[in-house]
Amino acid sequence: AKQEGRNTFRLYSTHMDIREHRWLAMETALRNAIDNGEGLSLHYQPLVDRDSQRLCSLEALARWYHPEFGQVSPGDFIPLAERSGLILPLSRYLMQQVAARLRAWLDAGLTPVPVAVNLSAQQFWQQDLIEQIRALYDEYQLPPGLINFELTESMLLDKQQQAVRVLQQLRQLGCRVAMDDFGTGYSSLSYLHQLPITTLKIDRSFIQQLGENQGSETILAAITGMAQGLKLTVVAEGVETEEQLNTLRRYHVNLIQGYLTGRPMPAEQITERYLAVARE
Ligand code: C2E
Ligand code: CA
Ligand code: CA
Ligand code: CA
Repeated sequence: AKQEGRNTFRLYSTHMDIREHRWLAMETALRNAIDNGEGLSLHYQPLVDRDSQRLCSLEALARWYHPEFGQVSPGDFIPLAERSGLILPLSRYLMQQVAARLRAWLDAGLTPVPVAVNLSAQQFWQQDLIEQIRALYDEYQLPPGLINFELTESMLLDKQQQAVRVLQQLRQLGCRVAMDDFGTGYSSLSYLHQLPITTLKIDRSFIQQLGENQGSETILAAITGMAQGLKLTVVAEGVETEEQLNTLRRYHVNLIQGYLTGRPMPAEQITERYLAVARE
């Protein structure tokens, strides 16, 4: 047993070394990618009106392709960036890309819909966040309201008073702000009404359990009822089936985001499928 224990330990330790090494290599690669913009891009996922299916806004989702690591999921490289101090330069680069994209659509004579950017905690709590956003609007000459934000509850924990101030400043800039992944984590319904947010995004875990599990619909009813009372826009994320969509029609749900109505796609496809068509 002792022998086995030692071997197990050794295997485990070797495994950790490899993993550590891979993380370090990835961190270096990510730093280079941010420096020269190589392999980093954004996909845009449509949020459509539940009933008319009209495009209402887009969510910008980061993508990273590296020749050695392949396509790395943001579920991996965003946490890596957060741990290694790269999230601020990365986010800055991505926000700039969003602003440039909006400017390109405007220059092409199209009417872009607002684009929502995911904020990570470090970014939200940065002293000059508001200044940065203001500077972007200025540099790209964007009309107000075209850049929106998504954040999660865990970012605001224990700092509600300060969070309210930052949120108010974002709202004063004309930005809409969504609470992302709502229903997971710390969901304290009681504090929600104190936050100057505009939108609730119901986490896809609830949406995907619809029809499979009675509890998920009960939660949907509760969340949407409350959101309606608070006059919040409600987004259902991760909608994949007609069945889920039909259930969502029974509740106060404004917007649909999911593979059913549109996967995340490169900006050019958004132009072709949505913006250029709308002009005709
Ligand atoms: P999120 O903000 O909750 O984004 C929604 C995720 O759900 C995206 O995954 C999207 O591709 C996926 N999704 C959308 N519709 C469906 C569907 O119908 N079914 C399924 N199964 N999935 C769907 P993605 O692009 O892999 O991003 C994962 C997470 O990484 C995001 O979750 C967000 O937390 C983070 N992230 C992505 N881009 C950025 C960014 O630019 N900045 C920051 N801070 N975080 C980002
Ligand atoms: Ca999001
Ligand atoms: Ca989400
Ligand atoms: Ca999420």
